[in-house]
Amino acid sequence: MQAVYKPYLLELKHPFSIAKFSRNNTPLMLLKLTYEGIEGYGEASMVPYMGENFETATRFLKKVDWNKFSYPFDFKAIISYLDDLVTGHPAIKAAIDIALNDINGKIQDKPCYEIYGADPSQMPATCYTIGIDTPEIIRKKVADAKDFKVLKIKLGRDNDRELINTIRSVSDLPLYVDANQGWTDKAQAIDLIYWLHDQGVRLIEQPMDKLNRDGNAWLTERSPIPILADEAVQRLADMDKLKGAYHGVNMKLMKSTGMYEGHQIILKARSFGMKVLIGCMSETSCATRAGIALAPLCDWADLDGPWLTTNNPFKDPELKNGKYLLADLPGLGLQEIPTALFPYS
Ligand code: MG
Repeated sequence: MQAVYKPYLLELKHPFSIAKFSRNNTPLMLLKLTYEGIEGYGEASMVPYMGENFETATRFLKKVDWNKFSYPFDFKAIISYLDDLVTGHPAIKAAIDIALNDINGKIQDKPCYEIYGADPSQMPATCYTIGIDTPEIIRKKVADAKDFKVLKIKLGRDNDRELINTIRSVSDLPLYVDANQGWTDKAQAIDLIYWLHDQGVRLIEQPMDKLNRDGNAWLTERSPIPILADEAVQRLADMDKLKGAYHGVNMKLMKSTGMYEGHQIILKARSFGMKVLIGCMSETSCATRAGIALAPLCDWADLDGPWLTTNNPFKDPELKNGKYLLADLPGLGLQEIPTALFPYS
């Protein structure tokens, strides 16, 4: 197995603001693995609050003994090996897992979605995320989202009702809300949730602090809208403590170390009777296609990564009526890889 990787700065269309911070770009590590002549592509999206960056990713990749991976890939053992090298660092582990899944599909001559048992006809609509901004920019962002059938709104500051009213002045699409832990008073939060229900909000992510299990559970018990954990869940091992505190989880490949463990999280959520939203970070089509492959196994999808960026080096995945189309191509189905990304190959 050979590995080639390249740091890449993904530029965002609009400065991205949520309850706790704002930024203009996201560092990625793009990865190509080659196994017996078959190439697989992966990607780490290293959003700053998760603690990974170009330097940590490079250091990690240098530690990996690529000769340990041989077909058939035992993904459970591979993730366990990567966890033994260093704890944490889920995004760069996801890059490796995604590239290996791509190779696995190509060796079997099957799309990744088929290998995971995902039925393309069950694809949920994917939402388009609107970050916190001025009313003028928000109206522009809503106009940008014309190909999408659901909008996701970032709330969690002190003008939540005003933001929703701005959206509602220009769109009557169903809404998902992400409070990003921004709500601190549960009585005020439940009032707001009932109001949001009347405004056509279909789900709410991480209303209160991730460590405030009781506060989030209190809201879950009373909310007419599904309440999902996002910041409160990363890996499979986090799932047990969420049971009963949330209606569902936001599973992201960059938190779960990729497709293998992401799929395990979906199965675990189902065994608890919980719902699943598949989410993403700022990503290119590479990681997004890995998410799309698992999306039919989930209730909702938030896989808008490539649409919020200006320099996605790959072809955009195809959308129709707000849903991604899955192509009958082996592996991730990434086409037209720009050779400039991997100059040493
Ligand atoms: Mg979220």
